[in-house]
Amino acid sequence: MQLPIFSTMNKKVSEKYMFQLIRRYGPISKVDLSQMTKVTFATISKVIENFLESGLIVAKEVGDSTGGRKPLLYAISDTVLYALGVKISRKQCEIILMNLNGTIVNTVTFPMTEECSPDLVALRIHDIVEGITVSAGVAGKLLGIGIAAIGPLDRKHGIILKPYDFPVSGWVNVPLVELVRKATGLPVFLDNKARAGVLGESWYGIAKNLDNAVYVYAEHGIGCGQIINGSLVGGINDITGSLGHMIIDIDGKRCVCGHQGCLETYSSSYAMVKQVIKQIEEGQKSIITDFIGGDLSKLQFDHICQAVAVGDRLCVELVTKAARVLGVALANFINLIMPNMIVLGGQTILHCPTFYEIAVNTAIEMTYPNPAGSLRFERASLGEKTEVIGAATQVFVHYLGN
Ligand SMILES: [Zn+2]
Repeated sequence: MQLPIFSTMNKKVSEKYMFQLIRRYGPISKVDLSQMTKVTFATISKVIENFLESGLIVAKEVGDSTGGRKPLLYAISDTVLYALGVKISRKQCEIILMNLNGTIVNTVTFPMTEECSPDLVALRIHDIVEGITVSAGVAGKLLGIGIAAIGPLDRKHGIILKPYDFPVSGWVNVPLVELVRKATGLPVFLDNKARAGVLGESWYGIAKNLDNAVYVYAEHGIGCGQIINGSLVGGINDITGSLGHMIIDIDGKRCVCGHQGCLETYSSSYAMVKQVIKQIEEGQKSIITDFIGGDLSKLQFDHICQAVAVGDRLCVELVTKAARVLGVALANFINLIMPNMIVLGGQTILHCPTFYEIAVNTAIEMTYPNPAGSLRFERASLGEKTEVIGAATQVFVHYLGN
């Protein structure tokens, strides 16, 4: 797919920038675009005319008027550009086709079963991508594939390094970008789930257009992605956001990373499931045993959420402690960077309202100075789709910039 050629309108403002403004703030009028860019109304009108002719934008609706004729508003066309998003997690691989307005056109998932070697996953991605792009008739408008995967990653070289607790063997030092690029023939981009999540929420979700936002997901693992001054933050090799390995207690439990007392050993869904099993095996009572017919091997985090909802003492105490520890970690983090907004996602947040409320209240209580009024906490507005939408967004960021 060849991107439209954007030309430079004047020394400061390019057509690409104008296109991005329409994406970010549309539906928007020519008057507002002229005021934002300090470009004359006549020049803006000419560019809008070109964009309309190329099918990049549409005249969407009629705006408010201060008298006289009401102005037309312009927005990005729903059918001009597309990207594919792929989310690889421990349980499944999810693939979406998404347009530039963030609308998901199609979704396909398959479980990460034992036979899901990296080669087989790349081939399945190829088959699914071919199927959904042909059925949607968008092959000529597809810019590429963005993958959000569990870490750790070598993003620069497109490699999944060595994910812990991954249910399938062979996923060590996997050159995933190369495998998927060869299988599909499309440009491929890779990032971790947390960084993809913050892109998704800042392009299409609750953090839209914010210059400073953080996305924290908490489920089997815990991670965070940050946008600071409008840019996605990356460290060496772009390995950032291992919030789950923030050390909360130097004498605490041993973590999979080899250290002691990491946040994940208290507040991940995996840690909570392990702790409930341990306490029941030690003789404590919980309604949760009724939910699973007494078979502890069937225990999932969602059973804990159900038990909390009916006031089960063991699960309420456990979730309260786990959420308070996450709140402390968030406070530590906020004290360092003080963003405008922290968006929380992942299974523990989305499936257990009590966990979310306690974590946020603890974070507010423990942050110094008290951020009341200047910092917002929100649940991921894109829900379970935040990370896969962010995966596809990587492609748009690559071609269009932030
Ligand atoms: Zn750790």
